[in-house]
Amino acid sequence: MKYDVVVIGMGLSGLVAALAAASAGRECLVVAKGCSGHYHSGIIDLGTGDPLVDNNGPVIPGQPVHPYRLAGAMAVQGGLELFCRAVRESGYPYTRVDRGSCLLLTAMGTLRQGDVVPFTMENGNLLSGARLLVVGFEGYGDFFPGYVAGNVNRRLNLLGLGGTAKGVMVRVAGTDLSGCNAYDLATHFERDEFCRSVAREVSIKVKGFDAVGFPAVLGSRQAGEVLGELQELLGVPVFEIPTFLPSVPGMRLFNALKDYLTGHGVKFMTGFGVISAQTRNQRCEAVWLDTPGRPGRVSADTYILATGGIVGGGLEVTPEIIREPLFGLPVAQPPAYRRTVEQWLAGQPYARSGLMVNELLQPVDEEGRVCLENVHVTGRNLGGYDPFADRCGSGVAIATGYLAGSLAGGGASHAGT
Ligand SMILES: Cc1cc2nc3c(=O)[nH]c(=O)nc-3n(C[C@H](O)[C@H](O)[C@H](O)COP(=O)(O)OP(=O)(O)OC[C@H]3O[C@@H](n4cnc5c(N)ncnc54)[C@H](O)[C@@H]3O)c2cc1C
Repeated sequence: MKYDVVVIGMGLSGLVAALAAASAGRECLVVAKGCSGHYHSGIIDLGTGDPLVDNNGPVIPGQPVHPYRLAGAMAVQGGLELFCRAVRESGYPYTRVDRGSCLLLTAMGTLRQGDVVPFTMENGNLLSGARLLVVGFEGYGDFFPGYVAGNVNRRLNLLGLGGTAKGVMVRVAGTDLSGCNAYDLATHFERDEFCRSVAREVSIKVKGFDAVGFPAVLGSRQAGEVLGELQELLGVPVFEIPTFLPSVPGMRLFNALKDYLTGHGVKFMTGFGVISAQTRNQRCEAVWLDTPGRPGRVSADTYILATGGIVGGGLEVTPEIIREPLFGLPVAQPPAYRRTVEQWLAGQPYARSGLMVNELLQPVDEEGRVCLENVHVTGRNLGGYDPFADRCGSGVAIATGYLAGSLAGGGASHAGT
C-alpha cells in the first residue's frame, strides 16, 4: 500500500511528526524497530536558555545549524500545543511551567528544572516550600529515600531554601518486592489491595508533612487512578520522583502518544527495522523493512527520518567515521581523533554531530545542495546541538517533528524565525 507519509522511528520526534501529518489529514504509517520511552524521564526539557534567542547563530554552509534556529518559534509553539493536546486527550496530561518557577527532585536527590511536566510530578515542586516525606520500598533496590532526602536537603540549604525532607522505607505486607524493577512495581500499584497496603504503611508516618513523594512507579497505565487513590487515603498531595531505568513515566508518555495516534487512524509497524531505501532523481521511492520471510516494501509521497541519531540507531559509529546507513546521507562530524585526558574532560565533540538540513529539514550536503527532496530529518538525527549539555533533547524533537509533519501535511510552507 502507498501512504501519504511514512515516518521511520517512533521516538518523540517521529510520534510528533505523525501527529502533525495526521492532523493535516494525511494517511500516515509509522515504522520502527522499537520504542525509546523506557529511557526518557518523562519530563520535557526545552533548553538551558531561551530556545529562540540563544540559538540564532549565523547559518554557515557545510556546518549544521542549531535545529531551533531552523525550526523557529512557530514550530516550537505549534509542536508543544499539539503535544499537550494529544497527551491530555489520552488521559496523561502535561503542564507547561514558567522558567524558574519549578524545581523537581531526582532519584539521586539532585534538583532539576523541567519545562513541560507530567501531572504526576506537579506536586513535587520544591519551590513550594512544602515539608516532604520521601517513600521507598523494602526489596526495591533502585530507590533509597534516606539518600534522596539527605541530598535534597543539602542542596536546598545551599540555595537558602531550607531543606526539611525526610526519607522512610516501608514494607508492603504480603508482597515480596525483592529483585523487582520500576515497571514491575508500577504493575503492583494497579492492584487495589497493594495500593491500600502502601497507604496504610505511609499514613502512620505522614503526620507533620505536607506532601509525599514516591519513586515514579504509581501505575504503568493508570497513573491518574493510583495517584488519586493515594492522595485520598493519605490526605496530602502525592507526587512522583523520576527513577532509574526503565522509566515508567517515559513509557506512559509514549503509550499515550501511540494510543492517540492509533485512535486518529495512524498505522504502526513496530519491531521491524528499515534496512534500505530505493531512491531516484533525488527522491525516495520506497523503503524496505526486515519483515519475516522476505523484506517488506513500503512507499509514500513523503518520508520522515526520525531514527534517533547515534543513541537511537539512526547513525552508525565506527572508529573512523559516523555514517547514516539508510540513505547514505552526509553527516557533519569531528575529524577522527584519539582523546587525551584533557579532551575527556572537555565537551563531547560527537554530541553535536549529525545530519545537515535546510530550513525545510531536507538533508543537504556540505555545499547546501538538497540530497533528497521528499525526505525530512528530525530530532536526534540532526547535527548542531548537544541534547545533554544544552538540555533541549525533547524540545528539539517536538519542534522538528512538528515542522516535518506539517510540511508533509502541506500545512507549513515556510520555516525559520
Ligand atoms: C538516557 C536518556 C535520557 C534522556 N532524558 C531526557 C529527559 O529527561 N528530558 C528530555 O527533554 N530529553 C531527554 N533525553 C533526550 C531525548 O530523549 C532525545 O533527544 C529525544 O527523545 C530524541 O528523539 P528522537 O525521536 O530523535 O529519537 P529516539 O527517541 O532515539 O527514537 C528513535 C527511533 O528510531 C527507531 N529506529 C532507529 N533506526 C531504525 C531503523 N533502521 N528502522 C526503523 N526504526 C528505527 C528506534 O527504534 C526509535 O523508535 C534523554 C536521552 C537519553 C539517551
